[in-house]
Amino acid sequence: MFLTHFHGDHTLGLPPFVLHRIFVDKPRLLTFVGPEGIEERLQSLFEVSWGIDWKPVMLPRFKVKYVTARPRGQVAGFQYQTIKLDHGTAGANGYRIQFGDKVLAYSGDTEPTAPLDRLVDGADVAIVEATGPGDVFSHMSWEAATALRKRHPGTRFVFNHLYSGTVGGAAKDFQVLEI
Ligand SMILES: [Zn+2]
Repeated sequence: MFLTHFHGDHTLGLPPFVLHRIFVDKPRLLTFVGPEGIEERLQSLFEVSWGIDWKPVMLPRFKVKYVTARPRGQVAGFQYQTIKLDHGTAGANGYRIQFGDKVLAYSGDTEPTAPLDRLVDGADVAIVEATGPGDVFSHMSWEAATALRKRHPGTRFVFNHLYSGTVGGAAKDFQVLEI
């Protein structure tokens, strides 16, 4: 699982997912890849979620590995590349992940600045945020998203993180992508 940054709207869905992983799913390793501090940030989120039960009861059942994203690396058999994007004070990681001869680009949150063009350049599929119309602080507007798509006509764009309404190429709930 690749994490772009630690803002609450990108991490607070994890506790129910981890709960399912521990008690319902088959025991299997889950690898988190993310920015510097990923282990401390997620462990503190899980401790807030389950208090004194986290360490003695749940942690021993949770098969997990934390990896600080490097500029390039391989995890769980997949090659990836990290590109630092402009978002908030700390920035966010964007990832290019190789699936066979295909490349998936994933932005998380970002302003529509030059590193985002580098992230999606030549990708087969790009999952990119497009927050809303007009002036969207620290995020990408629908206008900028539409322009980005025009600059990269060979890439299939799927936009997410919409706060209301819709824009061309927006993801649908529970959409499954064949890459
Ligand atoms: Zn954010």
